[in-house]
Amino acid sequence: AQVVSAEFVKSSVETEACPNDGSPEFAFVGRSNVGKSSLVNSIVKRKKLALTSKKPGKTQCINHFRINDSWYLVDLPGYGYASAPNELRKDWNKFTKDYFLNRSTLVSVFLLIDASIPAKKIDLEYASWLGQNQVPMTLIFTKCDKRKKKKNGGKHPEENVQDFQELISQYFEAVPPWIMTSSLTNQGRDEILLHMSQLRNY
Ligand code: GDP
Repeated sequence: AQVVSAEFVKSSVETEACPNDGSPEFAFVGRSNVGKSSLVNSIVKRKKLALTSKKPGKTQCINHFRINDSWYLVDLPGYGYASAPNELRKDWNKFTKDYFLNRSTLVSVFLLIDASIPAKKIDLEYASWLGQNQVPMTLIFTKCDKRKKKKNGGKHPEENVQDFQELISQYFEAVPPWIMTSSLTNQGRDEILLHMSQLRNY
């Protein structure tokens, strides 16, 4: 499984406006600064597949990228921006929730979680909402190359990953699939592509 082509297709402001050719898609979402742009660029092997969601005015859009002319990588608005006013945060929620619940070609939400820090409340809320609504989800742990000094009370990525899984387990019938990644070392990159092709059945 390799990415040979990746092109930006469309920014949509609502689920109904998304491409309707029926191709399967995977939606990337995570807290701001989780490492989403770095990971997506490592997956498509580009220095900069400009994530339009990072551009001013496009923060509330569903952005479709066509990969290998057969499936979509979808860039969703990040959440947890400290600076965003509450009203705007609510809007993002409504916006993405509608997409999660109504997008029939959505194969799996790839929820990005920073494995270099302990679980954040907002990430746990996001994951549990997906679980409770039975939205198919894959946990993508980022920044797994970062080692914490134990004597400072920090935990290693492996421990943070385990803690996170335990904390969300009550919301899921089965442990969701999960992949540990690093954009620095490309850890998990091939695993993500393989996982995607297995979910698509080709
Ligand atoms: P985004 O806001 O989610 O798109 O996050 P970015 O991709 O812009 O990354 C946010 C910050 O985390 C940047 O300073 C990156 O250099 C850093 N970062 C991203 N991925 C990794 C990773 O795998 N390992 C490490 N150590 N740092 C990372």
